[in-house]
Amino acid sequence: MAQEGCATGQETGGGVPLGSVANRLAIMVSRTGMDPAKTESREAERVSDLWSEGCWLCGARELVLGDDQSEAALPSARSLKVSDSDYGRTLPLATCASCGLMFASRTLCAGIEQEYEAVVDEDYLSTTVPRRRQAKWLLDRALKSVPARGVLDVGAGMGVLVEEARARGLEAEGLEVCSSFRDASRQRAGVELEAGTCASLPWSDGAFDLVFLIDVLEHLRDPLGCVQECLRVLSPQGELIVVTPDVESLAARLMGRRWWHRRAGHINYFSRSTLSALADRAGGRVVGLRTSRWYFSVGYLAPRLARYLPFESVLGSMLRKLSPSWVVPFDLRDSMLARIRPSGTFSDRPR
Ligand SMILES: [Zn+2]
Repeated sequence: MAQEGCATGQETGGGVPLGSVANRLAIMVSRTGMDPAKTESREAERVSDLWSEGCWLCGARELVLGDDQSEAALPSARSLKVSDSDYGRTLPLATCASCGLMFASRTLCAGIEQEYEAVVDEDYLSTTVPRRRQAKWLLDRALKSVPARGVLDVGAGMGVLVEEARARGLEAEGLEVCSSFRDASRQRAGVELEAGTCASLPWSDGAFDLVFLIDVLEHLRDPLGCVQECLRVLSPQGELIVVTPDVESLAARLMGRRWWHRRAGHINYFSRSTLSALADRAGGRVVGLRTSRWYFSVGYLAPRLARYLPFESVLGSMLRKLSPSWVVPFDLRDSMLARIRPSGTFSDRPR
């Protein structure tokens, strides 16, 4: 594993053992006249408590902590926006020394579903056109391998994929936790989405031929439970389509902490191997893995892209003036698209 910032405690600029966090804090507090020994001990205890559960995916206890363990507050509905561009700001992260999964402390993530319920995000709601392009692209590919009739989009946002699937004559449903996104779906397209989280899907076993989890797993406190539920509602010949960022992609490694997927709402960072391990544990198997792609309007993309380039303001302004409504594909090959099929029969699957 060679993930930036958290791969091994020995690498320069990488993760740090617990003692180093406390040492750094001890230096800081000594300047303010506080008792460094007590503060160091309290901070070491706090950090240790954050990670006491070990790796949620493989159960290993040995973790390598990322070098910023100071962000202690749960992201708010404000920072959990889909359109959040405060890249690099995350909860404290750790990497499992056994399976390589990078993730945020579950202790700090408690209650994140309630925060998502309250998200209001006008910038996201203005991206219907590019989202439709992406939904078409995803459906085109999924329907090549599965002759679907029933389609479910879990984490359906403003309902664009459900709308697009229905336009193709499919029986499509969606689930969305955020109430303002459900309202937008109803008002914009007349698509009524189910309210709730994927902890318990309100559909019967085998109800769908295709289930989509597009940019969802990285946000969840319990991705394993979610994938299990998605596989439960999938027919035996059906497929679960998962899109999630790839923490081992070249872009992720080169950009390090500035990688655009490092953000407050992302609390799981999968690689090809950890995504496969997740599918296995949930009772499925990955039958296809490729990179996914995004579509953005130039007006949405330009200011975000320009942050990584010289002449930020000039370039951003030029691109926006050029044609802000143009929709362009955007593919840094840092997002995975996995096709997952159920293993065995319903009775064999983990519950
Ligand atoms: Zn692990």
